[in-house]
Amino acid sequence: YSTRSCYLATFQGSASCSASKLIWKAWAPAKVKFFHCLANQNRCWTAKGLQRRGLQHHPRCVLCDQEPETMHHLLVSCPFWRQVWHDTLSWLR
Ligand SMILES: [Zn+2]
Repeated sequence: YSTRSCYLATFQGSASCSASKLIWKAWAPAKVKFFHCLANQNRCWTAKGLQRRGLQHHPRCVLCDQEPETMHHLLVSCPFWRQVWHDTLSWLR
């Protein structure tokens, strides 16, 4: 038994994700990296997360009112954010 063996045992059976390595190696401010790390682990406080914890939440995305507010919806399928991403990427070329 050693500190190292205990540390390694903590991660036994867990899957590593290469996305988190990319997030932390990317050039971006720390707060952006931290947000992406939380989003990647589905740990951001969305309405879905509030619902899981029994807290008050809006049943649908407050920006588009089309689907439940999940991390996937906010980052990928929300029409409001799709337009924001499109405009941002167009601006950055
Ligand atoms: Zn939406």
